[in-house]
Amino acid sequence: MYQPGETYDDIREAVGKLCAEFPGSYWRALDREMTYPAAFVQALTEAGWLGALIPENFGGSGLPLSAAAVILEEIHRSGGNAGACHAQMYTMGTLLRHGSEAQKTQYLPKIADGTLRLQAFGVTEPSSGTDTGALRTTAKRDGSNYVINGQKIWTSRAEHSDLMLLLARTTPLEEGMKKTQGLSVLLVDMREALGNGLTLQPIRTMMNHATTEVFFDNLRVPAENLIGEEGKGFRYILSGMNAERILIASECIGDAKWFIEHSVAYAKDRQVFDRPIGQNQGIQFPIAKAYANMRAAELMVKEALALYENGGNPGAEANMAKMLAADASNEAANVAVQTHGGFGFAEEYDVERKFRETRLYQVAPISTNLILSYLAEHVLDLPRSY
Ligand SMILES: Cc1cc2nc3c(=O)[nH]c(=O)nc-3n(C[C@H](O)[C@H](O)[C@H](O)COP(=O)(O)OP(=O)(O)OC[C@H]3O[C@@H](n4cnc5c(N)ncnc54)[C@H](O)[C@@H]3O)c2cc1C
Repeated sequence: MYQPGETYDDIREAVGKLCAEFPGSYWRALDREMTYPAAFVQALTEAGWLGALIPENFGGSGLPLSAAAVILEEIHRSGGNAGACHAQMYTMGTLLRHGSEAQKTQYLPKIADGTLRLQAFGVTEPSSGTDTGALRTTAKRDGSNYVINGQKIWTSRAEHSDLMLLLARTTPLEEGMKKTQGLSVLLVDMREALGNGLTLQPIRTMMNHATTEVFFDNLRVPAENLIGEEGKGFRYILSGMNAERILIASECIGDAKWFIEHSVAYAKDRQVFDRPIGQNQGIQFPIAKAYANMRAAELMVKEALALYENGGNPGAEANMAKMLAADASNEAANVAVQTHGGFGFAEEYDVERKFRETRLYQVAPISTNLILSYLAEHVLDLPRSY
């Protein structure tokens, strides 16, 4: 049984060992071809790591969020990327917290053992962007089905997932209604839906991320796939945000550690003007600063985790952890490129790949500006800016 303040050395070691089977050459080859890391995700699933947060009575390992954070941090610290599968860890939380017993019994054990993949999370739309309440995809009740029409964008991993957690409007917006009311969460079985009202269109991105546009054209989804109550979907999605922010922050900490460790090693090894470049303060100071900022961000991640695991609702800490960790990894990435000189741009060093990968976290799953707006409004009591 893990205790509070646990460092999970056994988990770090086991995940590290698994990741060592998937070295930089593995990720480079996939990156070149923009291919999904199927073998890596399969290995993680078989080892049970993706079912870490699923309770034991549903076949998972019932670990606390801090253990899941360690798993994701370790993947990123090893030079890999959990973007291909991290959502499975937290999207199932919506089902776990708000699904019916029948839904949980039907899906969670299969998600835990890897028979079913719940990797896709359809919230963002082209016209609404960050303004989730303005989404236009509709789910209209028709007998025992909902009929879905509309479009999503940036639905990651949809091509590699069996199920999608979808946020759609079930009640049309009327005057006086809050935009975030009337939205509902549905579990879409994409195996049945593809070609029957559901179309996926891959988007090529600056890093290998398997993301897609999704088109719904009179897609019929059984009404029994509604999660919780109709109209309360936005609240259900929000309830999983703290966990998501904290886990993404942990990935950023892992990235920052990778960049710092590689910068230090290179700075010690590379000789220019007959001495290691790491002897120059112009090289060592930026690395030291990136290290200090990473450690500070890591403390905020730990603070958010402690509050979360004590049953709190640490919106401010989870958001700050995500922002500070994303800033720390971005800074460390930049320092790593500079330290490696020309080789910072060479594919074989993995620095440029990780640099592209970690840049995402300034924008997704929530952009830095929106975190600052949240803090200004909800913590500092400044007027809402949008
Ligand atoms: C690779 C990738 C994978 C993703 N995966 C998923 C996924 O699986 N599921 C999903 O639902 N979504 C996903 N997203 C979407 C992601 O959550 C959004 O891109 C993000 O929330 C920003 O929304 P947007 O792109 O529409 O930007 P916009 O909302 O158009 O914003 C553009 C810029 O304007 C800024 N801005 C907007 N409004 C304000 C304001 N009021 N004040 C200050 N600044 C503002 C933003 O901070 C941002 O920098 C993914 C995105 C990417 C790039």
